Amino acid sequence: MLKLVILNLMEVELARHSGFCYGVKEALKLATEAAREEGPTYTYGPLIHNPQEIDRLRREYGIRTVEAFDQLRGGTVVIRAHGVPPEDYQAAASRGLRVVDATCRFVVDVQRAAAEFARKGYELFIVGESDHPEVRGIVGHVRAACPEAVLHVVDGLEEILARSPLRAAIVFQTTQAFSKFKRIDHYIKERRLPWKIKNTICGATKSNQYAADELARRVDRMVVVGGKNSGNTHRLAAICRQYAPTLHIETSSELEPSWFNGAQKVGVTAGASTPEWIVKEVVEAIRKL
Ligand code: SF4
Repeated sequence: MLKLVILNLMEVELARHSGFCYGVKEALKLATEAAREEGPTYTYGPLIHNPQEIDRLRREYGIRTVEAFDQLRGGTVVIRAHGVPPEDYQAAASRGLRVVDATCRFVVDVQRAAAEFARKGYELFIVGESDHPEVRGIVGHVRAACPEAVLHVVDGLEEILARSPLRAAIVFQTTQAFSKFKRIDHYIKERRLPWKIKNTICGATKSNQYAADELARRVDRMVVVGGKNSGNTHRLAAICRQYAPTLHIETSSELEPSWFNGAQKVGVTAGASTPEWIVKEVVEAIRKL
């Protein structure tokens, strides 16, 4: 008797936009060039929020992460894409360190916009995570430009409203959910409030979020690849969870075949600090399941 075997192959689709952004690519280029040309090179805090890529930089280029400049006796220090407060540049220079500034230009835009609002006397709201290095850097730049600034780091609209500001100015950490900007912007326009709002969420973040949202609606499972310490990866996972069961992993070793039971189509996306080689490994591993 002829036996007919039907193989139910699982389809895997990668989001239209995902993975490394402009700022991360630029920071990696600057750091690896410095290591090749200038000798001992360090990053002030992890260059990006991806432990596997940080490990590769250490193995292949000898680039190490330090948390304080007093651990260093000369060499080059790379300021990561998230940026730092102004006093950190001075601290590095006073120790005789060569500084390579890899602060992403979109982060510089937020630092400047926030400082400008504070100088003009607005009550400043930074929508973001207070313990995130980018936000600490923005706060540092505002304080340096305007020591008397009234400044709050908030999670969203409710926390702004709780302070009943009269002259508010609102900026965003570059990797915040774009939906937060839209909601606050809508609220201001609807009530014709005399508040200033500047969309400082970067294009890469917005594209990655839109692409993840679009893909998650059409698949049975979503896999989000990126550092467990990466805020923008967590936000991608939160978007995907609205539409499909979602797994946030750092590497393919975390894939559990049984989790895909019954799935015909799987979507994959990755945070802005996830290198292409890890994404490829994950896609291949899912295809082999
Ligand atoms: Fe720059 Fe955006 Fe990448 Fe952050 S996520 S490094 S702001 S491009």
